[in-house]
Amino acid sequence: MGDSKARRALPKYFSILKGKASPNFLLLKKVKLKFHENMNLNELWKIHHRGMNLLRRGKFVDEDSQDLLQLKAYIAERMTESCNLCELKCRVDRRKSMGACRVKNSKVASYFLHWGEERELVPSFTVFFSGCNFRCVFCQNSDISQSSVGSRIPEKEMARIIENAFLKGARNVNFVGGEPTPNIPYILKTMWHVNSPVPLIWNSNMYMSEEAMKLLEGFVDIYLGDLKWSNNEIALMYSKIPNYWETITRNFKIAREHYRAELLIRHLVIPNHVENTHRILEWIKDNLGKDLRLNIMFQYFPHYRARNYDEINKRVSYEEMKNVEKIVEEMGFSNAIVG
Ligand code: SF4
Repeated sequence: MGDSKARRALPKYFSILKGKASPNFLLLKKVKLKFHENMNLNELWKIHHRGMNLLRRGKFVDEDSQDLLQLKAYIAERMTESCNLCELKCRVDRRKSMGACRVKNSKVASYFLHWGEERELVPSFTVFFSGCNFRCVFCQNSDISQSSVGSRIPEKEMARIIENAFLKGARNVNFVGGEPTPNIPYILKTMWHVNSPVPLIWNSNMYMSEEAMKLLEGFVDIYLGDLKWSNNEIALMYSKIPNYWETITRNFKIAREHYRAELLIRHLVIPNHVENTHRILEWIKDNLGKDLRLNIMFQYFPHYRARNYDEINKRVSYEEMKNVEKIVEEMGFSNAIVG
């Protein structure tokens, strides 16, 4: 069940797997509140604030009434009327049209028991949504991230599929894409129908708005977040995304403080950009600590439009890999996977 490094870095996750702790979403269902559809967003956020205080104080009740998970789902749904779920804040009314992420209603491109994630996560029941707010020129999932493909699966049905996967041995449910952020309302509503104690993994580019981060607090068990770029210029060039650095670093710091959440950060090494990796690792060391679970990956392949960029139209070289290994070792990251 994973190795000792993962256990050190993700103790809460392992407690859930052993049945000694509850995944966060089940606790949200025990925080009881009252709200109604005539309330405006400000009023709903105030009730949310009260609900989060009850959650932190462990005021759990088993009774049949409205709960904090339902409230989060309701707020998320309302946010999509002038969407600001991610930091692009394109303010599209998603009841009528799709946003810059190419998501209107959530579409599931595929789902399966994934064996290709970090050892402590597999087998991971992974739900792939179509659409993404990023346009990474080397995207390996461009067939789903850059179009609106897949099926609309009712939330209740998706919940049964997740429970079934858990019964068959999935260690967690892993929401990814594309990007899960535009699908927050769907995911919250789906998990409300789930009763199995399955840990929830948020497998994301971490470009959520601050409001979306508030909704995710107390819901996510592990942020499996990408940290791709060390400055805005390079992020704009290769992922076509503005304000990357301030948004992503803010969100990692917020996620670190979230109620009973843990972090697993992934970073893909890009050819000719070891300096980018170096700066990212420096930031993690200085801001999140050296004990964090990290996965520094060498699997880069020039998919999609990478051939238009000579400097990244290749694999990472042996020398670059050795350089990165040395940097990770010298910085003293004790729970890192490299390779
Ligand atoms: S999630 Fe999509 S629709 Fe919403 S703000 Fe981001 S890009 Fe726009």
